[in-house]
Formats: sequence, structure tokens, C-alpha cells
Amino acid sequence: MEDVEDAEERLKRFAPFIMRCFPETRDRGGIIESDLTDIPAMKNTINRKYGSRLEGRLLLKQDSHLAIAGSVKARGGIYEVLKHTEDLALEHDILSLKDDYSCLAEPKFRDFFSQYTVQVGSTGNLGMSIGIMSAAIGYKVIVHMSADAKQWKKDLLRSHGVAVIEYDSDYSEAVKNGRRLSDEDPESYFVDDENSGTLFLGYAVAAKRLAGQLAEKGITVDGEHPLFVYIPCGVGGAPGGISFGLKQIFQDHVHCFFVEPTQAPCMLLGMATGQNSDICVQDIGLSGRTHADGLAVGRPSGFVCSVMRPFLSGIFTVQDANLYDYLRDLQETENIFLEPSACAAFQGAVKMGESDGIRSYLEENGLTGKMQNAAHIAWATGGSLVPEEIREVYKKTYPDS
Ligand SMILES: *Cc1c(COP(=O)(O)O)cnc(C)c1O
Repeated sequence: MEDVEDAEERLKRFAPFIMRCFPETRDRGGIIESDLTDIPAMKNTINRKYGSRLEGRLLLKQDSHLAIAGSVKARGGIYEVLKHTEDLALEHDILSLKDDYSCLAEPKFRDFFSQYTVQVGSTGNLGMSIGIMSAAIGYKVIVHMSADAKQWKKDLLRSHGVAVIEYDSDYSEAVKNGRRLSDEDPESYFVDDENSGTLFLGYAVAAKRLAGQLAEKGITVDGEHPLFVYIPCGVGGAPGGISFGLKQIFQDHVHCFFVEPTQAPCMLLGMATGQNSDICVQDIGLSGRTHADGLAVGRPSGFVCSVMRPFLSGIFTVQDANLYDYLRDLQETENIFLEPSACAAFQGAVKMGESDGIRSYLEENGLTGKMQNAAHIAWATGGSLVPEEIREVYKKTYPDS
């Protein structure tokens, strides 16, 4: 928890800088945070359309609408760039912890940081958060994009002056190559999504903020009032970090579930076999291919697998076709748009309401008879930056599986 608090303090130090560079964060004083909203109409649709009997309150954590990056990556990715920036500035004695960090937007600081490079491998959203924030500080930035990355995400990054290198291969290859190129350059820093404790802590800060939002809404979390959280999972860092933070705060009263595509359930595979990152989905004959670009990862973070082992309640899988159904459902019921990857969160709510499948979990955890007091949070991990014409395409997409 001390590490999470340290991360939270660092984000506060950077708030004046963020507010100066990104005026859209002014409302929240330079703190990048999202709303937590009730979605009762979506809950009704889930119960009516999918034969679910979800009890309690259903809420949406709208990281889809986080400022700057429009996805959950605005937490971990941006945090890691800021941490690296502070480390460099302190090391070179050009900044002290007590300074007003808005000075970092001045030319002499930008000139200093322009000597350095930041690199990252990404399926899209991590690249956007790292790319946009690194460019704002003044770094040279190179984003190594896997084949799954959407064209509009590459275009948006290039418009910020970011160098985008495209790969025909999957995420793991893009990361491997990016890491190698970065290691060859002493002035280059590689954001390592597979192993980064810094990214993880940036995500974990979400839990402290969520605890405040739950309290504001009068939502109690205790032995009689369980909290369920459903988070889409790719390599594991975002859902892992958020869940780690939530477990620190709510212990056994919070039940964290991840959701992965049926063709790319890398975290499920690593954890269920106990082989962590020594196994990938291709090893068991799955393609790793999915419309959910943010979740198109074949090999999980070994670091996250081992950290999550005592904390994670379970993992659901979801077919691509369901993602688009949930996308349309949410648009029709609540008038909120999410990208397909983010819609995976609803699979958790749907399946949790199908009493047969999860009865043993409820019994083992002493939850039977308490579900009418439950709060369920679908963690919406991305979507607000998706261009209008692509939204229209998504709304009419019906993949076979
Ligand atoms: C990255 C991402 C995730 C999952 O995060 P990981 O750290 O890769 O597990 C989920 N949803 C969206 C939209 C993402 O971009």
C-alpha cells in the first residue's frame, strides 16, 4: 500500500504540469480520473436478453473516457512516463520534489528531455498513452505496433510526432523487438508492459480513487455487501494492478474477475496451468486472433500471474460476437460508446448472473443470500477516442464467433 500511495503522491506532483499541457484535465485539477456511474438500464437488458439474473447494483467505471489517452492505459502508461521523467530530472538536479512541476512545460526542460528516447511495444492503446505523454514532455518516442493495432491509432500517434514501427507479428514479437532496439541505445528507456512494476502501481492507484467514489455514492463494501469487479485482460498489467489495489483496500470483500477473448485467454492459461509466462495460447492450438485489439495477447505477464495468484477470483472468456452485442446494448440502453475490447467487462456481469455456473463460488465464499446487496462494476477500459466513422462500423459488425 505504501508503494501505491507513493505513486498517488507522484501523480499529484505532476498535476500542475498535466493541467498546463492538457487543458481538458482542468476540471479535475490535472488528476486523470473517470466517473463511476450506475447503469440500471444495461442491467435490465443483461437480465432480459441473456437469461441472466444479476442481483444488486451494476455500475460502469468509465476509464474509456479518461483524459489524454481515452483508455485504462492513461493510468499505467502515463504514470510510467512521469516516473521516468521525475527520476531523470532529479538525477540531473534540474528539479526538486518541492517545485511546481508545471515548469516542465518550459523550453529548457523540453530541450533536456529531447536528448532521450522512450520506446514501447503495443497493440494500440498503451502506445497512445505513452506516445502522447512522452511527446508532451519532449522525448523522442518510438512505438512498436503489433499486427492487431488499428490504423486510426497509428495515424493518431503519428499526428503527435511519434515514430510508429509496424509489425506483421503479434504483440510479444513487437515487444521483443522494441526491447532489443531500446537496449542498444543508452539514452533510450523501454516501457516493459510484461514486467513493469511501475506500470502496475500506476494502475493500482485507481483502487484508492474508486474507494472514494464508492463512499460518495453510499456504496458499502463489507462482509454483507460484496463488491464484484470485471476487468478486460490482455497481458495482465491493467487488470492486475487495479485488482491488487482493490484487494489491499477491501480484502476478501472484493471479488476480482478478469475477462479474456476465447482465442487469446493468455492469463487464464498461464494461471490455470501454473506455467505463467512459460506457456502461450498458440501452444494449445488457439489463434490468439480477436477483434478485441486491446486483449490480443498470446502470452501473459509472468510477473502479474504470480502476483495475482492469491488475489484473483476467476477469469471468464468471451467470444468476439458477444463483444459487439454488448457494445450495441450499452449504446442503446445508456447511450455510452465503448470499444469492443472494453465490452468484455459485461461478460463478467452476464455470467455472474447465471446462477448455475457460479453457485459453487458463492457457496465457498459465504456469499449465498447476500447477492441482493452486491455491487458489480464493469470496468470500461477504452473507447472515447474511437473516430465516429469507426464507431458506425462497430455498431454494424457481427462476427461469426
Ligand atoms: C490494454 C487494454 C486492456 C488490458 O490491459 P492489459 O494490461 O494488457 O491486461 C483492456 N482493455 C483495453 C481497451 C486495453 O487497451
